[in-house]
Amino acid sequence: MNGNNGLPILPGATLGVLGGGQLGRMFAHAAQRMGYFTAVLDPDADSPAGRVSHHHIHTDYADVDGLARLAGLADAVTTEFENVPAPSLEKLSVARPVAPDAGAIAIAQDRIAEKAHFTRCGVACAPYAVIETAAQLAAASDMLLPGILKTARLGYDGKGQQRVATRAELVDAWQAVGCVPCVLEKLLPLEFECSVIVARGRDGQLVHFPPQRNLHRDGILAVTEVHAQNMPKTVAQAAINSAKSIATGLDYVGVLCVEFFALADGSLVVNEMAPRPHNSGHYTMEACDVSQFELQVRTLAGLPLAAPRQHSPAIMLNLLGDLWFTAGGDKPVAPRWSDVLALPGVHLHLYGKIEPRRGRKMGHLTLTGATLENVRAAASQAATLLG
Ligand code: ADP
Ligand code: MG
Repeated sequence: MNGNNGLPILPGATLGVLGGGQLGRMFAHAAQRMGYFTAVLDPDADSPAGRVSHHHIHTDYADVDGLARLAGLADAVTTEFENVPAPSLEKLSVARPVAPDAGAIAIAQDRIAEKAHFTRCGVACAPYAVIETAAQLAAASDMLLPGILKTARLGYDGKGQQRVATRAELVDAWQAVGCVPCVLEKLLPLEFECSVIVARGRDGQLVHFPPQRNLHRDGILAVTEVHAQNMPKTVAQAAINSAKSIATGLDYVGVLCVEFFALADGSLVVNEMAPRPHNSGHYTMEACDVSQFELQVRTLAGLPLAAPRQHSPAIMLNLLGDLWFTAGGDKPVAPRWSDVLALPGVHLHLYGKIEPRRGRKMGHLTLTGATLENVRAAASQAATLLG
């Protein structure tokens, strides 16, 4: 150990990750490419990251023995999803450097704490009310209707949220989720959605990727486009500045994605943050000279960060399990990969999930090319082939 908590942790050491989904898998790939060993803790014996990692501990995230084994194997630990219990991160951090820390994860896990943090950082959210009690429900302003009721915890990909137009619908929706703590957010007319990924080191060094423009379908990310003309420059700069304030305000270490809504009047409001690499940043693997996963490795290991440079316009298409059922029928049929791969500048990522299910993220395609026109043409052909 040197004087700085054993940092930097150099290649040859083992990096641990809590969570074995596709984000953990791509983290493991980036870490291994740089010469690290990897250890994954995930309760699923067949997890996408566990399958490609040197060590796979399958226990619950709160399992004391599992956490002790992870701390024994790994020289530092990160997470690939925000719903790991914050106390597990706290336990691990007694033995090993952990990034991001339990405090940042605890805020990102809870929409109420998250919105309070955004407000503290001077970044505007959609108008909202906290609904934790029947009295707060009754007192919520009519100005917030029509709105979206979102559970404070455990929501993702549009799950845990309901659109409500009237007070009666609001009351029903809160009862339907079991009267758990929620936020009621005003439904805003979105011009478009975008996100910014930043990476912040222990020394406070802060780098960012260019803002991504995102299209969601049914609450799930469908398409990300990143190129110089994807949004007005003023909006892009405001998003970058806000994401940086949010990361700095948390004294954050790691990769952080902040999602925004752009409104018709040119203003921007923050939606939510993810304390990890993000689906909207997958294009960075092929279109940038350093990827979001490599920056996760560097922030965790205490290595210098490189400011990312995008060298190609990019479009990312998510591949949901639905694509396996486009021909109809109950039996999944894989899309026509050989036709898709015949397109120029196409990069196929499949996450090694065995069972395709509707709404399940099975993989993604990134399209790169010399010009935006080329990339758009290939993306539209890919979308047609995928049906
Ligand atoms: P999740 O955690 O499931 O991603 P979000 O809060 O990001 O939840 O909501 C999912 C999607 O629903 C957003 O990307 C956006 O398309 C839509 N949405 C959420 N909140 C609002 C809002 N206040 N106004 C309009 N659309 C919204
Ligand atoms: Mg979201």
